[in-house]
Amino acid sequence: MKILSLELQNYRNYRELQLEFSPGINLLYGDNAQGKTNALEAICLCATSKSHRGTKDRELIRFGEEEAHIKVMVEKRGIPCRVDMHLKKNRAKGIAVNGVPLRRTAELFGILHVVFFAPEDLSIIKDSPAERRRFLDMELCQLDRIYAHNLISYNKVITQRNKLLKDLDDHPDLRDTLDIWDEQLASYGIPLIQSRKNFIGELDQLVKEIHLSLSGGREEAELSYAPNVEAEELRRVLARERVRDLKVRTSLTGPHRDDMIFTVNGVDVRHFGSQGQQRTAALSLKLAEIEIVKRVIKDTPILLLDDVLSELDGSRQKQLLHRISHIQTVITCTGLDDFVQHCFQIDKVFHVEDGRVIGGIHEQ
Ligand code: ATP
Ligand code: MG
Repeated sequence: MKILSLELQNYRNYRELQLEFSPGINLLYGDNAQGKTNALEAICLCATSKSHRGTKDRELIRFGEEEAHIKVMVEKRGIPCRVDMHLKKNRAKGIAVNGVPLRRTAELFGILHVVFFAPEDLSIIKDSPAERRRFLDMELCQLDRIYAHNLISYNKVITQRNKLLKDLDDHPDLRDTLDIWDEQLASYGIPLIQSRKNFIGELDQLVKEIHLSLSGGREEAELSYAPNVEAEELRRVLARERVRDLKVRTSLTGPHRDDMIFTVNGVDVRHFGSQGQQRTAALSLKLAEIEIVKRVIKDTPILLLDDVLSELDGSRQKQLLHRISHIQTVITCTGLDDFVQHCFQIDKVFHVEDGRVIGGIHEQ
């Protein structure tokens, strides 16, 4: 698939913006804090309904304004498609596809598929399990609407169940309703665990090959799922652990406490990997993600590379750019030196300055 254009109104530091992309490699360059990441974030929002930075909708609206608009034109198998997003300060956002308003956010998934590379990807490897779950959920939601639906419902159940656990002191009569929440937790949670298991299994196969090649044949990587509880055990463990949940007044069992483990040469890279190994692991993971997406959607996703090239050494830069050729890409950077130096093919260059974009020059 290809993204043809992006239009913004009162989004972050943009009052008005209109960009037309090349189907090849697009480069947005400019100094710090000019709006490069903001433009990529807006594209991400039209794909996933959320900011990749986890920002709340109201904070995406330009300071002092009440509303923001994003419009993205996409082409899928030759057919154009328009996504309109209307962000409002005090209400839920409105989304329309080809002018038809969506009833549920999950209906957006699959229209525009992006794979986002950012320097913060390192946190998938280094930080808490929540980061790894966020990575899994962001991708699985785009690939599978049923997963997205189950996840939204599951998260609501966890919120309600935790609230109930806290309220039981004042309302002990509500204790029996825990059975209903537990049944819902299991019915939405079991398919989440199964999907994550399959997805991580597929990722593992790809990560092995990619990581070996990125490390020049020196490192064997392995990715494994560390579920809080196996799918077939969820109901039983939930019942068994209820006393503990009542004591700590929070839900301790279920996929909201899952993790994923990345090992390099048999050692957990999160705790024992060097900076370089962790960077390679994060890159392997994202490159594997592209391959899975290509397989599942039988098309290419759009790649958004936010300031990541400067983080990689020359040989990894080359490998990355080699693997993403033939995929439409939007790259941001602060200077053009790296590209000129390495003779990378760039199809269109935009200069970003204080919420304005100058250029859109076609390179030869
Ligand atoms: P860097 O190279 O440092 O990553 P960047 O070009 O990617 O910079 P962005 O993150 O896209 O920068 O933009 C940051 C700018 O956007 C900041 O100056 C910030 O104040 C501004 N900004 C963020 N949110 C809003 C908002 N809601 N309204 C107006 N301006 C905003
Ligand atoms: Mg940035």
